[in-house]
Amino acid sequence: MTVENYLAEHSSELEQQRNDVSLTRYTGRFAPSPTGPLHFGSLITAVASYCDAKAQHGKWLVRIEDTDIPRIYPGSESHILRCIDAFQFKPDAEIIFQKDRLELYEAVLQQLQQQDLVYACQCTRKMLGSDHIYAGTCRNLGLDFAEQAIRVKVSDQDIYFQDRLQGQQCSNLAQDLGDFVLKRRDGIINYQLAVVVDDYLQGITHVVRGADLLDNTARQIYLGQLLGYPRLNYMHLPLAMNAQGQKLSKQNLAQALDLTQASQLLQAAFTALNQPPITLDTPARMLLQGIQQWDASRIPVGTTLHGCYL
Ligand SMILES: [Zn+2]
Repeated sequence: MTVENYLAEHSSELEQQRNDVSLTRYTGRFAPSPTGPLHFGSLITAVASYCDAKAQHGKWLVRIEDTDIPRIYPGSESHILRCIDAFQFKPDAEIIFQKDRLELYEAVLQQLQQQDLVYACQCTRKMLGSDHIYAGTCRNLGLDFAEQAIRVKVSDQDIYFQDRLQGQQCSNLAQDLGDFVLKRRDGIINYQLAVVVDDYLQGITHVVRGADLLDNTARQIYLGQLLGYPRLNYMHLPLAMNAQGQKLSKQNLAQALDLTQASQLLQAAFTALNQPPITLDTPARMLLQGIQQWDASRIPVGTTLHGCYL
């Protein structure tokens, strides 16, 4: 399926979304990767994205970012779905799975190829060196696309954006990163491309996510710009830390959310976000209270949550 076909097939739904967006001007999302079970850091993101959207009478969508199939952790997809249920979040549309949408990302890659904005790269990891800036070695080699990595050409321009919590950010992709990969040699679609395409197709206007993704934002803005998609509004949340002072992550084995403790965990998430106290109750009523009291300006500034050790 091409993006055009997708848009044609979903035209009435998207039209409705656009009308809603023009009324509400807010569609947010929660987009976890099933590379491990959800942990307390994921809950903070879910709560903040949900309450921020709902407090502005917006919509909140859920998307499972599972294009990196080798990294999917068995059972984590069903854990995510059970969490959404147990914490009683109410997505405003059916949950989508990126692994069902690979044709769309391929169609966008073809569009970029026709515009001569991408090229095939045959460099091995070894050849890339250690500074993580790609020198553009294959940019003008005109290599065949089959079974090669595909990179997007970046330009030497400063990309600015205003983050609602982290303030003004600036990145120059040519100097910081070089041409980056959109599709790996093993055929896996890169996260950056899938995010940008789906944010557009889902009509997302606001992104609320962890500060560990702050670095990705310039790449996503750049891709959106190449594809003619509207610019999004960003808020990157400070990250919860473990007792060793590392950010909670699947890599350092953060504890999976215990669904029998949903109300207590929800209360702890509101506390971590420095929101007014929430009465211990059912998750649904606690979320409602959280939305009514929501004040994004109270969220601690910075990229880590001090004193929130788990
Ligand atoms: Zn190369």
